[in-house]
Amino acid sequence: MNILMFGPNGSGKGTQGAIVKKKYNLPHIESGAIFRENIGKGTEIGLKAKEYINRGELVPDEITIPMILDRLKKDDCKKGWLLDGFPRSKEQAVKLDEALKASGLALNVVIEVGLDREIAKNRIMGRRLCANDNNHPNNVFIDAIKPKGDKCRVCGGKLSSRADDQDGEAINKRHNIYYDTQTGTLAAAYYFKGLAKKDPKIKYVTIDGAPSLEKVNAELMSKLPS
Ligand code: AMP
Repeated sequence: MNILMFGPNGSGKGTQGAIVKKKYNLPHIESGAIFRENIGKGTEIGLKAKEYINRGELVPDEITIPMILDRLKKDDCKKGWLLDGFPRSKEQAVKLDEALKASGLALNVVIEVGLDREIAKNRIMGRRLCANDNNHPNNVFIDAIKPKGDKCRVCGGKLSSRADDQDGEAINKRHNIYYDTQTGTLAAAYYFKGLAKKDPKIKYVTIDGAPSLEKVNAELMSKLPS
């Protein structure tokens, strides 16, 4: 099963992605997490990507596209993958589509989590990252997933916030990219929506990201193939 996941920063896409990953037992390939890992390790990719990420800009395609396409060739992706955060532009969508076709891989499901831009921004500023698990949901502005004091609500791990999550200007830039239906991330999602209209083997699933995580998840599960 090969799955693409779209949703603005703050839509709960990462949390829903972690559940989808478990359902189908897939590696969860998150472009942003791969960049953060590279930054943490001080790799060449990390050094090049850091400034773009902190400004809320896209890391250039010549770094990002080969990084993701190489990742999809690793052994753990042979049984399928859940790709999250890539593609983020129409250009990347076209490149991914070409790469999949060239290697005879089919796309099975595309998930689009919809959310109003203002709600997404507030959620981003409240989110916190758990040192033990990237996918432990913690958000100081959402009652259902409020941290326990200053510790992770799931495991008690140390929490931190991302530099690019606390910078309103950087968030606006990220959202300008996401909500751009001409060349941005929604343009990438709609590119695959167009393919899904012509190809019944691709299922395009739209869900509303505004309700609680549990409700969003219930809607998502009811729409996914078993
Ligand atoms: P995320 O964790 O998905 O919010 O990604 C964090 C940052 O990583 C983004 O704001 C971009 O700077 C960079 N990034 C992630 N995915 C991509 C991508 N597909 N293309 C370019 N830059 C990306």
